[in-house]
Amino acid sequence: MNDQNDQLLDEYEVVVIGGGAAGLNGALMLARARRSVVVLDAGDPRNAPADAVHGLFGREGMPPAELLERGRAEVRGYGGQVVSGEVDEVTRDGDGFVVGLTDGRTVRARRVLIATGLVDELPDVPGVRERWGRDVLHCPYCHGWEVRDQAIGVLAGGPMAMHRTLLLRQWSADITYFAHTAEPLTDEEAEQLAARGIRVVDGEVASMEVVDDRLVGVRMADGRLVPRDAVAVGPRLVARVGFLKALGVEPVPHPAGEYVPSDATGRTDAPGVWIAGNATDLSAQVGGAAAAGAFAAAQINADLVNEDTERAVAAYREGAVGVGPGPGEARGV
Ligand SMILES: Cc1cc2nc3c(=O)[nH]c(=O)nc-3n(C[C@H](O)[C@H](O)[C@H](O)COP(=O)(O)OP(=O)(O)OC[C@H]3O[C@@H](n4cnc5c(N)ncnc54)[C@H](O)[C@@H]3O)c2cc1C
Repeated sequence: MNDQNDQLLDEYEVVVIGGGAAGLNGALMLARARRSVVVLDAGDPRNAPADAVHGLFGREGMPPAELLERGRAEVRGYGGQVVSGEVDEVTRDGDGFVVGLTDGRTVRARRVLIATGLVDELPDVPGVRERWGRDVLHCPYCHGWEVRDQAIGVLAGGPMAMHRTLLLRQWSADITYFAHTAEPLTDEEAEQLAARGIRVVDGEVASMEVVDDRLVGVRMADGRLVPRDAVAVGPRLVARVGFLKALGVEPVPHPAGEYVPSDATGRTDAPGVWIAGNATDLSAQVGGAAAAGAFAAAQINADLVNEDTERAVAAYREGAVGVGPGPGEARGV
């Protein structure tokens, strides 16, 4: 991550936890707002297995690692820091926070922006994890164009299986629905699949069949091989927020997994803690996560402006004038 110039200081106005699209765009906004800001990042973004980011205008097809490297450089270009490290606890300390890392380092913050994304809990079928992000996929908007007109399978499971199957029909006329261990189809669902020419294969799936580093089909438990070029699965989407327990911020159930609720500005129930990206919006793509990070950052800056003003007014009434740090003083620029 090239963070040799990013020596962690004792204190920042804002600590951003997670350096994916949401965290980096949030930090960019905060650095440009002349806030002292650090991004603490474990370096494991959700789309790391994918070759390219799709559906993002202006950066269509860029490798995920390159996009994030540009983002880190942009944050640093305005005086923000991006530091490698994994946060394992955030505790309240007076009117701020102490953020603790797994390596024992700690850092204080007036506000915290959570942007740690989610974990895709994949179906426990041999081959799915190994092919994930390549020819085993989940999101037609991310990969649909790349597998257009190919033989696509859908491994049923989870509440979105029917939706995902019908959606993929938009990209290919050759779709097979593998019932696997899912609840039986209703009559209405079976009719919809039949009407769209989608074949249904009953029985349990044993594994993904791979030859020469390429998916060639789905191996059934009874030994049959159903040739396929790509398979769509429905992972359980679980927000990565275990380190927030001490603040009372816990994920809540969602039909597709678990997420942390927030208001429209990204504010959580814990005062001073904002959240953006997949950790609060399981369906956010890169553009949506980045936009949410930027929006939350603007709210955090406004909140700090209000607090700075309240402090200044209190001091003013005591006879002081122009108290509090000027723009950029808190970070020495
Ligand atoms: C295979 C695949 C392909 C995809 N393709 C596309 C695509 O083509 N186009 C698109 O728009 N979207 C795509 N997506 C979705 C995309 O990955 C997400 O929209 C995006 O990553 C969400 O950004 P985020 O910032 O919320 O989280 P992430 O990008 O996951 O970033 C979170 C960051 O926080 C860090 N982190 C987590 N926990 C901690 C901690 N405790 N301490 C410090 N750091 C921590 C992680 O290491 C990571 O770097 C794809 C997803 C997958 C799974």
